[in-house]
Amino acid sequence: MLARLLLVIAITFSCLTVSTAGHLDLPADENKEDPGFLGDLAEMRGEELASYLFSLIQPLANTISTCLWLEDDALQVTEGLRVIVFAPHPDDESLAAGGLMNQVVAQGGAVRVVFVTNGDGYREALQQQLGDEPGSSQDFIEYGKQRREEALQAMCELGIPPEDIIFLGFPDGGIDDLLKDHWSRLTPFTSPHTRFSSVGYTGAFSRWAAYAGVNLKDEIARIIDESCPDWIILPDPRDYHPDHCATGIFVLEALRQLNQQRELALDNLEILTYLVHFKDYPTSPDWLQEVRKAGLFMSTTGSGTLASTQWLELPLTDDDLESKERALSAHQSQHQILGGFFKIFLTDQEIFGRLDPAQVLTIPQEYALSFKQPNS
Ligand SMILES: [Zn+2]
Repeated sequence: MLARLLLVIAITFSCLTVSTAGHLDLPADENKEDPGFLGDLAEMRGEELASYLFSLIQPLANTISTCLWLEDDALQVTEGLRVIVFAPHPDDESLAAGGLMNQVVAQGGAVRVVFVTNGDGYREALQQQLGDEPGSSQDFIEYGKQRREEALQAMCELGIPPEDIIFLGFPDGGIDDLLKDHWSRLTPFTSPHTRFSSVGYTGAFSRWAAYAGVNLKDEIARIIDESCPDWIILPDPRDYHPDHCATGIFVLEALRQLNQQRELALDNLEILTYLVHFKDYPTSPDWLQEVRKAGLFMSTTGSGTLASTQWLELPLTDDDLESKERALSAHQSQHQILGGFFKIFLTDQEIFGRLDPAQVLTIPQEYALSFKQPNS
């Protein structure tokens, strides 16, 4: 819209200049009395007018072009959006997209948050909390239940009701294992922390589902299919944390499946990735150069495809920032160990990478092939 406005102003201005200059072609009889003077005057007035208008329009043009640049790189939350946010662990959703979720709710939209794990495998944090080594798998299970409650409170701070919050209950620290070595239901993964080899938490999306990659992919596909989202927010496949990288791949796999089997139109979807664990992110601008050449976790495939990712800023208001801070505060079990890390995400913007449909369809295939993934 602004580009068109600028074009119209430019065209109007050039027409005006030509039109003013056109006065030079006065009828011969009118020029007879003092043609040189009138001609010079007309030309001079035209040039002066042109110069004057240029001086008026130049700052405006500069302002408009700056706005255009920002607009191209800024994300805008519009009214009534339906958004799904995928979080590998409780707290990732608020770190990466707390402000975005606050804006969606404020604009009358709906947010569903999908927690892939309950964060039950964070041994160091649990050890700090207990003041001792966790003694049994039950300690980890209780920790998973605690983090679930914290996640519900965090989402309450952002105005997201419990019915829009989904806990899949898959193994913290094992999402990449499901992708690489435990894809099939015949060979489920066993969590070294909880000792679960299927979803053991009451209230999980699909209790007793085996810890198999194919199950996680199918559950994600079902949630997307049922939710009819406008936007999907997922961890970037280049994130250094294996659970984050693998969660991103699982969401892309699910999208590819829906595209092929249910004819999901990717063109109508805004698919946005986020980073949490990455060199220099988000404190130094160097991360942008790094992420452009980074491959996927344990694989260099996909780096070329992802290099062209467009990174967009979502400016946050004071209200967004306060809500985000309250949401992060609700993740109490993480404060002692991650309080400083949380702070670096409390800035006046959030950053998302936009994937186009071709990238969505290409990355999972390349990644899956690199692991010779079975189909069952
Ligand atoms: Zn995480």
